[in-house]
Amino acid sequence: MILTESGSHISDVLDLFRTHGELSRTEVIDISGLSRSTVNQRLSSLLAGGLITAVKGGESTGGRPSSRFALNTERAIFLTADIGASGFTVAVCDLSGAALRHTKHVVNVWEGPERVLSDVYAAFEDLRGDEDIWGIGVGVPGPVEFAAGRVVNPPIMTGWDRFDIAGWFTSRYDVAVIVENDANARAVVESRQHHSDNLISLKLGTGIGSGLVFNGQIIRGNEGAAGDIGHTRAAIATDVSALQCRCGNIGCVEAYAGGWALVRDLEAEGLAVSSVADVVDLVQRGDIRAVRLVRQAGRVLGEAVAELVSILNPGTIVVSGLLAECDEVLLAGVRERVYQRALPLATRNLTITRSVLGELAGVAGLALITADQIFHAATIDRLLTPAVVSV
Ligand SMILES: [Zn+2]
Repeated sequence: MILTESGSHISDVLDLFRTHGELSRTEVIDISGLSRSTVNQRLSSLLAGGLITAVKGGESTGGRPSSRFALNTERAIFLTADIGASGFTVAVCDLSGAALRHTKHVVNVWEGPERVLSDVYAAFEDLRGDEDIWGIGVGVPGPVEFAAGRVVNPPIMTGWDRFDIAGWFTSRYDVAVIVENDANARAVVESRQHHSDNLISLKLGTGIGSGLVFNGQIIRGNEGAAGDIGHTRAAIATDVSALQCRCGNIGCVEAYAGGWALVRDLEAEGLAVSSVADVVDLVQRGDIRAVRLVRQAGRVLGEAVAELVSILNPGTIVVSGLLAECDEVLLAGVRERVYQRALPLATRNLTITRSVLGELAGVAGLALITADQIFHAATIDRLLTPAVVSV
C-alpha cells in the first residue's frame, strides 16, 4: 500500500481528478492539503500506472509550460448492463463513467438469470472493442445484497433469488463485477450530476423503484431493501377495495401507479395498449383517459414520496424511466401531494425534477459505482505499476 500522510491515500488524489477534472500540481496541493513531495510521489505513481495523463496545451507561466493533469479516461473501459423488467441497455463506458457506445435489447426479466445474462453477455461481446476492461457493473430491478453480488427475494424477478450474478460474469471476464439495484445506480449518477448529497431517485417504468443517496452514500438498509416505495401501501380511500399487486400483496403503490397497472387500467377501458410505451404515447397524444389516469398515478406516487420526504428530508427528487416521459402530466400530481402532505421545513428547498440523463442514467450510474469500487483505497494498488508502489 502507498505510504500515507495524515491518513490520506493515493486513491484520494485520484478522486480529486474524478471530481474536479483537470488540475495542476499546485491545485492538487491546495485542495488536498498534502505536502509537495507527497503530491509529487502520488502524481508519479498515477502517471506511471496510466490512471492520469498530462494535459496538452496547459497554460504557460514564465515561459515554462505548467503541468496540468486529468483522469486518463481512455485507459480502459467498464462494461455496464442496466436490466429492467422488460429489457436492458448495455454500454461501454470510459473511466469517467461516460457511455461511449450503447445498445438496447428486449427480454423479460422473469425468463430467468441464465437466459437474461446470456443475452447481456452476447450484447457485451458485440459492443466491446479491444480496449482493456477494468470492471463490469450490472443493475437489476430488485433488492441486491451488494457485497455478495446477488439479488435477494426479488418481487418480480422469478428464478433470480440468490443467483450469483457477479460469479456468472467473473467466470467469463476476469475483472471486478458489481451488482446494484437499478434505482440505486440512477441515484448515484443523479446525486453527482445535481451536486446533491441528499437525493431520491425514482425510476418509473413497468414498476416503481427508488434509490436513496444520503450524505453522499447509497442507503441500502440491512437486506438491500431500503427505499422500495412501490410496495408500500397506497393512500387510497378506505371504501375502495384494494387492488392486487404483482408482488402478491394487495393495495401497493405499484398496483395503482406502476406502469403495468396503468396498462391494465387502460386496457380495461377498451384502449389498445400493451406496454408502458403505449401509455406514454397516449398521454403525449393527449388522450383524455390516459391523461386522467397518469395524473391520478402521480398523486398516489406523491403521497408515498411525501412520507419519504418527511422522514429523510432530501434536497432533490429526480424522476427517470419510461413513464417519466409523461413529464408534467405525471410530475404535477407528484408535486401537488408532496408539497401538500410533507412537512413544510422538509420541502422548503426541495427540487422535484425529471432526469436529463434519459435512458443512459442507469448505465452511467453503474459505471460510477464500478469506478468507486476499483479506485477504492483497498483495491487501487493493483492498477498501478508494481515497481512504483511502495509496499
Ligand atoms: Zn406490491
